[in-house]
Amino acid sequence: MENRNEMILEVESRSCNEGLVRIAVAAFSTQLNPTLEEVADIKTAVSEAITNCIVHAYDTGTEKIRIECRNEKRELTVVVKDTGKGIEDIEKAMEPLYTTKPEQDRSGMGFAFMEAFMDQVKVESSPGQGTTVTMKKLIGRQNPVFE
Ligand code: ATP
Ligand code: MG
Repeated sequence: MENRNEMILEVESRSCNEGLVRIAVAAFSTQLNPTLEEVADIKTAVSEAITNCIVHAYDTGTEKIRIECRNEKRELTVVVKDTGKGIEDIEKAMEPLYTTKPEQDRSGMGFAFMEAFMDQVKVESSPGQGTTVTMKKLIGRQNPVFE
C-alpha cells in the first residue's frame, strides 16, 4: 500500500460538527496504525482547533470550516482553516491561560493542549481574513515495524 492519503472536509461552524470532525480525523488517522493513546491525542487537538473556529472565528451566524488531512509515511498533518475574524497577536493568543472570552468560562488552554498533544502546531492568521492552524504528529514511534 502506498503510504500516502488525503482527505478534505468542509463543515459549518456549529457545535454539533465538532464531534463529527473529531471522529472523521481520528478514523482517517487509523490508516497510519496509531496507538489508542495517539488517537486520543489527535482527537483532543482537533477538538480544540474546531471549537476555536466555532467559538471565536465567527461572531455572527455560521460559516464554513475547512479541514485538510494528510497521511504521509508516518506523519499525520491536519489543517483547520476558517475565514473568520482572525487573531491580532498570535504569540499572546498561544500563551497558556490567555483567553479573550473569560466570561464564557473559556480557560485559554486550547492552543496549549494542541501543542502538548501534537508534535508541531503552526498558527497563521490575519485580522479580518481568518485563521489557519496546521498540526503535525508522527505516528507509531513505538512501533518497531517502522524503524
Ligand atoms: P479554551 O480553549 O480553553 O476553551 P480559549 O479558546 O480562549 O479557551 P485558546 O484555544 O488557547 O483558548 O485560544 C486563545 C485565544 O485565541 C482565544 O481566546 C481567541 O481570542 C483566539 N483564537 C483562537 N482561535 C481562534 C480563531 N480560530 N479565530 C479567532 N480567534 C481565535
Ligand atoms: Mg480554545
